[in-house]
Amino acid sequence: MSHWLTVAVPTPAHSGLGMPLTYRACRALAAGSIVRVPLGKREVLGVVWGAAQPPAPDLAPQVRPVAGVFDGLPPLATDWRQLIEFTARYYQRALGEVALAALPPQLRTQTGAQMARRLKRYLSDAPAKPGHERLDAACCAASGAACPAAASIVHSPEQSRALAEIEQHGGPFLLFGATGSGKTEVYMHATEQLLARDTLAQALVLVPEINLTPQLQARFMQRFAPRHGAHAIVALHSGLTPAQRLTAWLAAHSGSARIVLGTRVAVLASMPHLRLIVVDEEHDSSYKQQEGARYSARDLAVYRGRLVGAKVLLGSATPSLESWYASTPAADGGPGRYRRLVMPRRIGAETADAGLPRVRRIDMSQQPKGALIAPPLLAAIGQRVARGQQALLLLNRRGWAPQLHCPDCDWSSACPHCSAYRVFHKIDRTLRCHHCGLTQRVPRACPVCGNVDLGAWGRGTEQLEERLADLLADVRRPDGTPARITRIDADSTRGQDQLQAQLARFHAGEMDVLVGTQMIAKGHDFRRVTLVAAVQPDAALFASDFRAPERLFALLMQAAGRAGRDAASGAASEMWLQTRHPRHPLYEALAAHDYPAFAAAQLAARAQAGLPPFSYLALLRAEARTQLAAQAFLTAARQTAQHTLAGDAALSSALEQVAWYPAVPLTVQRVANIERAQMLIESASRTALQRVLSACQPLLHSLRSAPEHRTLVRWAIDVDPLGV
Ligand code: ADP
Ligand code: ZN
Ligand code: ZN
Repeated sequence: MSHWLTVAVPTPAHSGLGMPLTYRACRALAAGSIVRVPLGKREVLGVVWGAAQPPAPDLAPQVRPVAGVFDGLPPLATDWRQLIEFTARYYQRALGEVALAALPPQLRTQTGAQMARRLKRYLSDAPAKPGHERLDAACCAASGAACPAAASIVHSPEQSRALAEIEQHGGPFLLFGATGSGKTEVYMHATEQLLARDTLAQALVLVPEINLTPQLQARFMQRFAPRHGAHAIVALHSGLTPAQRLTAWLAAHSGSARIVLGTRVAVLASMPHLRLIVVDEEHDSSYKQQEGARYSARDLAVYRGRLVGAKVLLGSATPSLESWYASTPAADGGPGRYRRLVMPRRIGAETADAGLPRVRRIDMSQQPKGALIAPPLLAAIGQRVARGQQALLLLNRRGWAPQLHCPDCDWSSACPHCSAYRVFHKIDRTLRCHHCGLTQRVPRACPVCGNVDLGAWGRGTEQLEERLADLLADVRRPDGTPARITRIDADSTRGQDQLQAQLARFHAGEMDVLVGTQMIAKGHDFRRVTLVAAVQPDAALFASDFRAPERLFALLMQAAGRAGRDAASGAASEMWLQTRHPRHPLYEALAAHDYPAFAAAQLAARAQAGLPPFSYLALLRAEARTQLAAQAFLTAARQTAQHTLAGDAALSSALEQVAWYPAVPLTVQRVANIERAQMLIESASRTALQRVLSACQPLLHSLRSAPEHRTLVRWAIDVDPLGV
């Protein structure tokens, strides 16, 4: 006899087949079972979602049979499937796409028998298995982080208070703690208590970037391996090899991993005994997936916590305004949905501002024209180097100059395929488009008029590194040798290993001045750095993206937090800002290390403008050969939706609560000859927005196949977008 099942399969995003498909099996299969099924001409991995209604007798022969079952694998839990369903629904994607993206890719190439063998071997001897990926506790020393043994730690009063609240309340919690205030210690202690109390419980710890996992892994290893074994801690992120990822996923799914450290993908990992979720640096934009299902791992963590009854602990020195607002107590006019835990002081500091660097603003309008580094800053860098200390210089532009230009005929290095300039990279004398990748040799003369005197406009990290070498030529280190300058950005590091090696050299004191993009400002512990400078931070003050100030503030606070993290040298450390707006409120708040003041001002402005967290946004995006076609699709989508949904009694009230904005080109409107446009959809009601978006899905699918929208390349919905 046949059993009818629905199976989530990776249907193409634009097939319009969002829901699980029906298959036949010769025996009953539990929901959550992982199977192989035919799909078109291929055989694909799928997840049994539930029982299906028996098809009409004449249709039954067309229902295809399940091809194989991964018998050795325990089925995915109900709450995991609920999480996937929510993710797909909320972010407007196909269920199968989300489900399969959450499984390790290598499962696709394994047979059921192979998996069963692997799992059996894994479960029987994982702790002792020599080939199993071991984490290197020694890299703790390389990172410069001190790792006091758990027993020797006396918690600060703030830490004790935070931990007591985490013990007593359900959460979610927002741990608002300065860099170095001991947040990681709070995460580890909360985890420790959980694991001790509940012998099955699992904890998930999320970090924004892969390159931050080694430091964190080392600390968790040192703390937990002695008691729970090294196998109990696994890392799960997209930088692993397929085999490593499968192993880590199996450890999480089987419950043998008690602690999973990961990046955003890990929020969807199968963890049957999940009881604690930590989201470190919760404000970080890399928690938002930027393609496919554009989910926010931070928001999903909160959802998942509530779903499975796990405590959720969000931590940051500069929380997202969403989390800050959510944690504003009702007494202060906020929703009080999260419980805010506050740790203002650095460990070892007497007062909240002790150990924080002094912020110095240089008014660039008072400096020599065209100065890359203002003379007082240059002198300060020189002094640091002379004392054997390190300096960190931030400039958020790679390459030597953002564009080349001919002063005679106005030719510029515009990319022929994108609405952007190609960046001049002097090192290999290329012009490179950072959007489409087009790379060409720098022309010897202007391609239009033959002028050999091409000018470089603007400056990038390469130029900064080169010019610094000249500017610091006379500076001597304590041993009489010249200053050593290095650069870390996406060009200087090809791959994780190289980045780690470069960072390790800097940590080890082999370099004096580090020039880099924002990638170096995040999470790294630079304790010999006593001077951090933002070379050109102003652009974000006036950007059209309403989140740009929030990002700038977080970046600068975080960069400042890198300086002199140990309180001993903290008193002498400085953060310099080269700006033309030294009195800007953002910089004033930064100088006072006053995130709450910054947040209050931003929230007031957002409330006034009806922006998140006081409203909910979604972007409808379209890409086409012409800007006209992209915008036409969006406009047609709005008209169709408004017309169709208004006629539906159940939807018309939701529709009334939703505002549609005109279709506009993206800031970089053309990339690789594809024109991009977007339409903002906004509502004060999340539910109303969700209902309208879901109702739009089928309309968009059919609109896309209409002949007048033939030239459309693709469309997508971005819910809770980061940039608008
Ligand atoms: P954060 O995560 O907030 O930046 P960490 O947890 O990394 O802060 O703590 C900063 C430093 O202080 C680390 O070297 C950590 O080992 C140490 N530390 C944390 N809590 C304590 C404590 N209670 N006593 C002594 N050292 C501590
Ligand atoms: Zn010219
Ligand atoms: Zn290009």
